[in-house]
Amino acid sequence: MKDPIIIVGGGVAGLSAAVHLSAAGHAVHLIDRRQHLGGRTYSWRDEVTGDIVDNGQHLLMGCYAETMRYLDLIGSRHLAKLQPSLHIDFADVATGQRASLHAGWLPAPLHVFAGLLGLNTLSFADKLRLIPLGVELLWSAPWKEYALQHMSVEYWLQELRQSETARRHLWDVIAIGSLNDHPSRVSALPFFRVLRTAFFGKRSNASLLIPTAGLSEILVHPARKFVESQGGTLTTGSAVSGVIVKDGRAAGVMVGNRAVSASRVILAVPHYAVTSLLPRASAPLAASSFSSSPIITVNLWFDRRVMEQEFVALLNGRIQWAFDRGRIVGHSGDGQYLACVISGAADHVDEEKEALVRMAVDDLAAVFPAVRSVSIRHSLVVKEMKATFTPVPGSESWRPEAKTETPGLFLAGDWTNTGFPATIEGAVLSGRKAAEEVLKAS
Ligand SMILES: Cc1cc2nc3c(=O)[nH]c(=O)nc-3n(C[C@H](O)[C@H](O)[C@H](O)COP(=O)(O)OP(=O)(O)OC[C@H]3O[C@@H](n4cnc5c(N)ncnc54)[C@H](O)[C@@H]3O)c2cc1C
Repeated sequence: MKDPIIIVGGGVAGLSAAVHLSAAGHAVHLIDRRQHLGGRTYSWRDEVTGDIVDNGQHLLMGCYAETMRYLDLIGSRHLAKLQPSLHIDFADVATGQRASLHAGWLPAPLHVFAGLLGLNTLSFADKLRLIPLGVELLWSAPWKEYALQHMSVEYWLQELRQSETARRHLWDVIAIGSLNDHPSRVSALPFFRVLRTAFFGKRSNASLLIPTAGLSEILVHPARKFVESQGGTLTTGSAVSGVIVKDGRAAGVMVGNRAVSASRVILAVPHYAVTSLLPRASAPLAASSFSSSPIITVNLWFDRRVMEQEFVALLNGRIQWAFDRGRIVGHSGDGQYLACVISGAADHVDEEKEALVRMAVDDLAAVFPAVRSVSIRHSLVVKEMKATFTPVPGSESWRPEAKTETPGLFLAGDWTNTGFPATIEGAVLSGRKAAEEVLKAS
């Protein structure tokens, strides 16, 4: 291959860059340190049950336009199911109360507001206070993004007079789900953008897009196939130890003691891996400023069915979501396979597997009493310690662009400046942006 474009990192960002460059007729060589591609999105077949397990259940959204374009390109769009209308079932661990958010047939944004008005967990006064929040989402001023960037989600919601109940029963669920940390620690700007994009775009923007196959089957394997079919190569199990910069330009990468020459390099690694790969002068300052937040998934196989819904958001519990993996992805045999998610899980990462399983079972039993009379056939806990970067107030301005000061060197990754929080959509978009910068520079 003559002067291929080197991509370091085979997560969704690196794969997206590889797919877009391959589609434009360029030769790429992608290198990942792990034995498998996909980075923070991958799946495998569980040896005990034969079921497909994800490293963490992912929920995508109808507003993930880049992701859908990527799935179209690699041919796996049919493996993601878009809800006809936003629908979320809630169950309160403290009281056992049930509620459903169902966005009906009205045009956007009225469909979501009609759904919120129908929520029986919100009081009449809480529903009235949705009006100022809706106005706030509609209204924009040049300095508004700056102000939002520097305040927390919690502060912003208090400013908008959202009650404690409205926050715990609705807004915190969305904030923790999309930003993966407590609303007091994350910036209001990405939250504002999530709400605005979901509520005020097309009707389908607010709907959830649910992967109906393992993450590797939908996001990773078809991308590998696509890149290889265009003559690209993807190497796993090879750690890049540094980017070579000669005369101020990118000149290749070091893989162990071996230099691999290339005039164009895309670094698609997480923020915490960037600084050690670059000479001090070329490293974006922001890379070392971010912190990360964990996500824990407790996978439980029960000998009988306990939950009828496809997925449920749990209020006032320690687990926040329960997904019926059998209904979503498929499950071999009888019984039921549930994936229970704890986002913003810093308080729980040191707990042993048994304690986490007990915690998930207790929360589930509070809302699905059948759990008390069934047996657990198998369990598996997956802790992703650095699941997402934490968008603390002020951090939006740290996020670097795809193009760097060093000619020939480009950045991709969910932490770069995409306008999205750490998501599949942000990662796919960052890969496309890096590919476009490479093409411009070529
Ligand atoms: C449990 C969990 C649940 C999530 N839920 C959702 C969700 O519901 N919805 C959503 O949209 N997003 C979700 N996310 C976030 C989403 O998965 C990430 O934002 C996205 O996958 C990040 O992709 P990336 O390519 O930027 O980084 P990564 O996936 O981290 O890829 C970086 C790659 O670089 C490689 N690498 C690092 N250093 C080197 C080196 N020196 N040499 C070679 N390779 C190297 C790594 O091995 C890795 O493969 C979730 C994440 C997790 C972990």
